[in-house]
Amino acid sequence: MTNTAILTIGSELLCGDGLDTNSAWLSRRLEGLGCSVRLHLSCLDAEEDIVAGLATASALASIVIVTGGLGPTVDDLTRAAVARYLGDSLVTDEGELAHIEALFARFSRTMTPNNRSQAERPESARPLRNEVGTAPGFVAEGPNGATIYSLPGVPREVYWMWDHHLAPELRERIGQRPRAERTFRTTGIGESTLAERLAGLEARPELEVRYSAEETLGTVRITLLADEQEVVQAAWLEAREIAGHHLSALGTDRLNEATVATLVAQGLTATTAESCTGGRVAAQLVEIAGASRVLGRGFVTYSNLSKTELVGVPAEVLQAHGAVSEEVARAMARGARAAGKSSLGLGITGIAGPGGGSEAKPVGTVHFAVAYGETEADVLHVLRVLPGTRDVVQIRAAAMGLHLIQRGAAALVSQRDS
Ligand code: ATP
Ligand code: MG
Repeated sequence: MTNTAILTIGSELLCGDGLDTNSAWLSRRLEGLGCSVRLHLSCLDAEEDIVAGLATASALASIVIVTGGLGPTVDDLTRAAVARYLGDSLVTDEGELAHIEALFARFSRTMTPNNRSQAERPESARPLRNEVGTAPGFVAEGPNGATIYSLPGVPREVYWMWDHHLAPELRERIGQRPRAERTFRTTGIGESTLAERLAGLEARPELEVRYSAEETLGTVRITLLADEQEVVQAAWLEAREIAGHHLSALGTDRLNEATVATLVAQGLTATTAESCTGGRVAAQLVEIAGASRVLGRGFVTYSNLSKTELVGVPAEVLQAHGAVSEEVARAMARGARAAGKSSLGLGITGIAGPGGGSEAKPVGTVHFAVAYGETEADVLHVLRVLPGTRDVVQIRAAAMGLHLIQRGAAALVSQRDS
């Protein structure tokens, strides 16, 4: 497999002012071509550091992609640094200079001597025309045989350069079939528990299993990769069995989109009654165009009184079991369903923390219930003790709420069909 490395240059990337999105974007494409991305490296706008970065990257990879530092200002040092690494001098590329001059003429802008410097490249490098900015890129062979692509830093220009130069050149060079892959997501099960259950798949040498906890989504993303489509397909069928009802957001990146799609497809509606999530479930549902067809209303029932007044949780139940209890979650779900005259009602009540926990009900304790019919038997209840800070508990609880709406929909449909 072809090893690749990405070196991003820019002091703003190291002080926290700028986020290195180029590496992630390029890595997805390199993986898509069947390359292995071995290293992401970011360094300051300092010639010394860029040279060191090139040496490190070239030691691991036969293709190195550099972004940034090709601008016209004094802090743009990539050209000089690459030349030094190659043992080259800098020369002006007449073709690129003419192109830059033409660009300035077209936009009636005056060209400064600094802009002329953008036409410089290491002597042995081949220029890469940039039609969407003034800094051309270039490509050269490093001393240890690695090919070094140098691109501007502006993401839009990186994308254009990839599409017009790197993708076609690398596709031709690698001539490799991209690996087959299948991605799915789960909700309501920890990454490590899931990994344990999927250990049998991971043990297969022909299959690669990758996990990524999507904290801000409350989901775990799993990617199955192999050279052969059949290997991935067989693994997916097994993984689907193992993950069971924890599977979520199939066919999309987003749990809320999957939830709305499920409800629309089945012609169902939902009403939410949320305590510790403060309306996050409803908010995520209405992010999706078409949510009005499935969500009539959402209650934020934070106080005991609101649980009674808005969704009819009996005061005695609150008194007897406490607000964070299975009984109250069930009553909230049934009450929400009735108040909204909807097919499904969701109730969420829990302790987001940091205070308010006890031995019996530690911080992170959340009761979820979804009512999908008239009777107490038509309520599905789930108890979770979610790890994390207050916002993480809320994010995960909201994800679980969305997921439970889908489970409620599945229960209702199977009841309807039987
Ligand atoms: P230009 O010719 O436009 O000056 P350049 O090659 O000098 O481009 P930089 O000056 O390093 O590029 O960066 C230009 C812009 O692109 C900045 O706004 C910077 O934040 C952004 N940028 C640079 N590197 C990255 C990166 N790795 N990921 C995302 N954005 C980046
Ligand atoms: Mg710069």
